[in-house]
Amino acid sequence: MPLQIKHADGITMPIIICDFCHEQITDAKDGSYQFRGVDTTGEINDIFFTHEKCCRAFEKLDPESLWSSVSLECLPIYLGNNLNLNLKEALETAKRLEK
Ligand SMILES: [Zn+2]
Repeated sequence: MPLQIKHADGITMPIIICDFCHEQITDAKDGSYQFRGVDTTGEINDIFFTHEKCCRAFEKLDPESLWSSVSLECLPIYLGNNLNLNLKEALETAKRLEK
């Protein structure tokens, strides 16, 4: 369950936990999301998260699978595209809810 909620000082925040070392990924440039399979139309696969340093070791846990990995920097953008997210409106909503 790598996407979790962290509670700290009265604040709740979504965080991502590495599926290999089980530590929090705190910098998008230091992480990837990974999935099995290649471009097969209609196929839906589970998503995993790893630090860059854990990526290859994680894949070796299931060496028979064909793995793909993408930088975590891209995840909010690609996910936003599939959620029909208007980034400007979402930023305004987030700021309003922080108050
Ligand atoms: Zn890790």
